[in-house]
Amino acid sequence: MSLSVIENNIEGLAVPIVNSLNTYAEYKTQVIASPTANAILAFLEQSPKNVGILFIDKDFDSMYIPPFVLPDDVSFDGGIAVVNVLSPINIGGTDIPLGVSLMHELGHAKQFIEAPVDFENKYKEAMGQVKSNYPSELTRKKKGEKISQLIIENENVALHEAPICDDLGLPFRKRYD
Ligand SMILES: [Zn+2]
Repeated sequence: MSLSVIENNIEGLAVPIVNSLNTYAEYKTQVIASPTANAILAFLEQSPKNVGILFIDKDFDSMYIPPFVLPDDVSFDGGIAVVNVLSPINIGGTDIPLGVSLMHELGHAKQFIEAPVDFENKYKEAMGQVKSNYPSELTRKKKGEKISQLIIENENVALHEAPICDDLGLPFRKRYD
C-alpha cells in the first residue's frame, strides 16, 4: 500500500486536521461508486511510489505537491496530495463532494508517476524555472498562469475529475479554466 494519510506535522506545510484517518475513509466512500476513482486508487496502491495525503483546514488551498519540490527530508517520492476540507470544487454553483477534490489531487499523483519527466518539465515551465517552448503569446492564459500548467490541469480534469463526477451523477467541467 503506497498511499499514506499524513497525521504528523511536516515543516513548511499546513498542519493536518485531527481526524484525518476518518476523513480519508469518508471521502473514499463518497467516490466508491465511481469506476474511475477506483482505478486511480488501485493504480496508486499498486505503485512502488509513496504518495502522501494531507487533509488541512487552513493556510493553503487543495493542491498536489510533486516530490521534486518537496524538502529533501520528506520521503514521499510520489508527492503529496493536499486537500483543504473547507474548500470544495464548485461547478456551476454546486459544491462537489470533497471526495472528488481528493481524487483530483490523487489524479495529479497518477499523472506524475506515469510520466515523471514530462510532468516535471511542464510544472517547472509553468513555474517559470525553464524557458518556454511555446510562442510567448500562447504562454500566458491569464497573468501569472501559464499554458503548461493548464495542460496538466486540463488532462487531469478530462481523464480523472470529469469522468468521476459523471460516474457519480454530479455536474462536471470539461476544462480547468
Ligand atoms: Zn489540479
